[in-house]
This record gives sequence, structure tokens and C-alpha cells, in this order.
Amino acid sequence: MTLDITPLLWRNVPMLDVHVQLTIKGRSVAIDMSVPPGEVTIGQLLPALWQAGETLIAVGIKAVKEQGKAVSCRKGCGHCCRQPVPIAPAEARALSRLVDKMPAERREVIRHRFAAAIREFEAAGIAEELRMRGFWEKGHGREVGLRYLGLRIDCPFLQDEACTIYANRPLACREYMVTTPADNCEDPSANTVETVDIPAGPVWPAIGRLEQGEDEKLKWVPLILALEYARENPDDPPAQDSRTLIERFITRITRKRGNGDI
Ligand code: SF4
Repeated sequence: MTLDITPLLWRNVPMLDVHVQLTIKGRSVAIDMSVPPGEVTIGQLLPALWQAGETLIAVGIKAVKEQGKAVSCRKGCGHCCRQPVPIAPAEARALSRLVDKMPAERREVIRHRFAAAIREFEAAGIAEELRMRGFWEKGHGREVGLRYLGLRIDCPFLQDEACTIYANRPLACREYMVTTPADNCEDPSANTVETVDIPAGPVWPAIGRLEQGEDEKLKWVPLILALEYARENPDDPPAQDSRTLIERFITRITRKRGNGDI
């Protein structure tokens, strides 16, 4: 792995141009990110981290095309937006801030949708399961996920089968793509869904790892509990040097299990 960091100006805003060169499973991958210099919070770094994730996603899509397959995800299909979506704590806080900044009418609609969905998950006993996620036994997540999926409840940001916060959607949403017919995603438990293999993916946990110790169980937030989580945990951890955070992020994705040949 090589990592070059060059200062540059972007629209008169000083930024760092970060270039990372990796070899993943024999494939050379170049990741470019525009990173704010100096002390930043993880929230402020999210656009750069998503940018890195998008590069790896593009590599995955290219590999799929080389195999003669095509990604079947299209605007107008929101099946995956009824699945439990795991996001990093910083993404939960970012979603909450995004909702706070929406025009009042829209903000109320979205908050109402979150509350209504959580009520349904509570009635089905799933909300409490999600809140206890830090204590799940191995394999329990799949069981909860299937029950969640069975309720067919839309993500509050889904409208007319399209994501209304597309540019700000969490990394897990970006990483989930399939090559099998879209309708198969209605029941992904049927083993009829083939997902795009993202090199070093899933990448989203590396965002979560930036605010916790390496040996701790991964902290994550179900998207549907994002506003609730952010209410209880409103503050990003203290700002840190952006270079240090980027280096930790890249080191984390290159260290992932199953990517030993990086
Ligand atoms: S944030 Fe957007 S892409 Fe992600 S689950 Fe919700 S509607 Fe779907």
C-alpha cells in the first residue's frame, strides 16, 4: 500500500488530495479522496470516506462486467430499502443532522415515518432486539434480519421506490448491489440473490472502527434507529488530525479478514 497526501485548493477551500494505491486480490486499486486538512470530526470526514467506498464499489462493478454480468439495481426498485441497513455511528449522527436541516414540513414527514416504523417494529418485538444488538449471539443477527424483512417496512427515506437522500445515503446502502433479477431481492433469504463482491468490502464497518478500539465488538446502528441513536449520542468524538483518521481507515480496510493478499 502507498499513501500520498498533497495539499491543494478546492474552490478556494484548502483540502488534502489523498492518493492511495492498493493491490487487492491481485487487482491494482487507486483511491483518491479530497480531505479537509487539520483537526476534523469523523462526521466532517464522511464525504471522503464515502468517496473511498465508491471507488471500491466501482472496482466491484467492473469485475462483474468482466464476468459478463450486469448490476440489476435501478431507480424504481426499493426492495433493499426494506432490509435492516447497518450503518456507522457517525452516519447515524449525520442522518439525524440531515433531517434537522430539512424544511420543516419535510422534516416532520420523515420524523413521523421513523416513529411509525419503530412502532411497528416494537409491536413485532424487533425494535428491542435491535436495541440489544451489542449482546447478540453469533447467528442471531440473521434471524432478526429475516423477521425485519418479513414486515416489509420502507426505510423512511424511500419514496416512490427511490432514495430521497441519495447523495447522503450511508455506505452500506451504496455497497449493496445485485446481479440477479430485482424481484429476487423481495425475499433475499431464498438464496437467489447474488450480490456484487466489493473488494475489501463491506467497507462501512471501517467508518465505525474510527471511533472505537480495534479489539472492541463493532459498534453499529440499524438505520431505522438512527435518529434515536443520535438523540442519545449526539456528539461526534473529539476532532482528530484528518491524515491520522484517513490512515487508520485505509489500514482498517486493508487488514480485513479474507483480504490477506493486500
Ligand atoms: S437511505 Fe436510501 S438507499 Fe438507504 S435504505 Fe434508505 S431509501 Fe434505501
